[in-house]
Amino acid sequence: MNGEPDLLIGGTWRHASDGGTRDIINPADGSVAAVVDEASPDDARAAVAAARACFDDGSWRATPAGERAALLHRVADLLQRDKESLSRLETRDTGKTLAESRIDIDDVTSVFRYYAHLIGAESDRLVDVGAPAVVSRVVREPIGVCVLIAPWNYPLLQMSWKVAPALAAGCTMVCKPSEVTPLSTIAFTHLLQEAGVPASVVNLVQGSGAALGQALTDNPDVDFISFTGGLATGRTIARTAAEHVTKVALELGGKNPHIVFADIGSDGWDSAVDHVLTGVFLHSGQVCSAGTRLIVEQSIADEFVADLAARAEKIRIGDGMDPASETGPLVSADHRDKVENYVALGVSEGATLVTGGARPSDPALADGYFYLPTIFDHCERTMRIVQEETFGPILTVERFTTESEAIGLGNDTQYGLAAGVRTSDSARGERVVRQLRHGTVWLNDFGYYTAAAEWGGFGRSGNGRELGPTGLAEYQELKHIWHNTAPAPAGWFKG
Ligand code: NAD
Repeated sequence: MNGEPDLLIGGTWRHASDGGTRDIINPADGSVAAVVDEASPDDARAAVAAARACFDDGSWRATPAGERAALLHRVADLLQRDKESLSRLETRDTGKTLAESRIDIDDVTSVFRYYAHLIGAESDRLVDVGAPAVVSRVVREPIGVCVLIAPWNYPLLQMSWKVAPALAAGCTMVCKPSEVTPLSTIAFTHLLQEAGVPASVVNLVQGSGAALGQALTDNPDVDFISFTGGLATGRTIARTAAEHVTKVALELGGKNPHIVFADIGSDGWDSAVDHVLTGVFLHSGQVCSAGTRLIVEQSIADEFVADLAARAEKIRIGDGMDPASETGPLVSADHRDKVENYVALGVSEGATLVTGGARPSDPALADGYFYLPTIFDHCERTMRIVQEETFGPILTVERFTTESEAIGLGNDTQYGLAAGVRTSDSARGERVVRQLRHGTVWLNDFGYYTAAAEWGGFGRSGNGRELGPTGLAEYQELKHIWHNTAPAPAGWFKG
């Protein structure tokens, strides 16, 4: 960063082999926050080769689980020691508020602690095969060389969901953060070294998805690709990986419904409005599980939307470093263009613009990529603004009159990442959440997750799961060992 080498390949920090660099932009004011090395495809291949040689050497995967667990705890300790500096890097790079970045670093820490605990508690499974002389057991082994590709909205958080279980399992890896937001991952990789991760176990390259990502994923030496990002990129990676029959886990986008029943009554009203608001406008909507699609019962819709709009207009937008800011900018000028195009589309499709739909007028924000919280009412399920992931501060509103209609709308999406349901009737709540085809469903809450519970999508939100025991199993192969302790001839062939 800023002249220091940023690529970690085979235990050595290096500059890009072709001298490439990239400016990293602070989205709050458009300034250059840092200049980092931009890895070339050759660097990608060298990083995979280093991870391959390290895995095949066998010493890391043979490290006892207890030692790997201790290493993960040391990483967690260092994350807490460096919490403030990592949070500031994350805010400078993504634009999110410092308060959010601090929560992210705490969450990253708990992921490392969780997998330290889990790997220490694993055991083999004994199988009774009905032959007294045979000891049969199923053991877990590391899957091998992993390529870990992360997006820009939660750079370190998403990377940690991959690195922590991969290290716990005994894998070696090449990490590729988003080219837009690599800063926290570079600092984190230094921290991994300080914690004692052996050379070549973790390699780091950053750069463009098209060139570098392709070189990482189209590589027969890779055993597993864990990718978090958009649907189109996920498709490309799955196609590329199919050539080598490489296992792929995809965590893709979402278009997440938040269903509000009229029975919330006055007691549940304020929290429902508040959770819908936070669910969609936190981090300016740049959240894969953002509740961007409000599905509200007709009888309360007018009042509910009016209250939401009033609160949306009071959201304090600003530089994430300013403690007064409640939400920051969009991540880049390109991304803001995309969001603006979606707003224009919503208008042309006939949705009613209730609030937002513009950049803030405050001249102090003119150089950043800010956009106002935007609400479209009277939307139809067939509109593109309702069906496509906008990944910005845009809420669409659809209305329903019956429970089955609400469920039908909530499931009418190609995605299936997350959903929310608000009702004071717990029997209805349980009925509805069981019928929603989404990987996480919040009942009378929104947005929370824990390291101990699986995260992932139904439908085109992806395959595989991160977090929880399944998030570790993704990085393991199962091997059945059949040990005959008293071998005798099988006697099938008589001659
Ligand atoms: P993106 O797909 O553009 O990029 C993600 C990563 O893939 C980046 O590191 C990028 O450089 C890399 N990449 C791009 N093309 C590649 C290729 N051909 N081969 C290999 N790598 C390639 O996504 P983004 O814009 O960074 O992130 C936003 C998306 O991520 C949204 O769709 C969001 O919903 C999704 N997301 C999903 C989750 C989840 O848990 N399901 C979490 C966060 C973000």
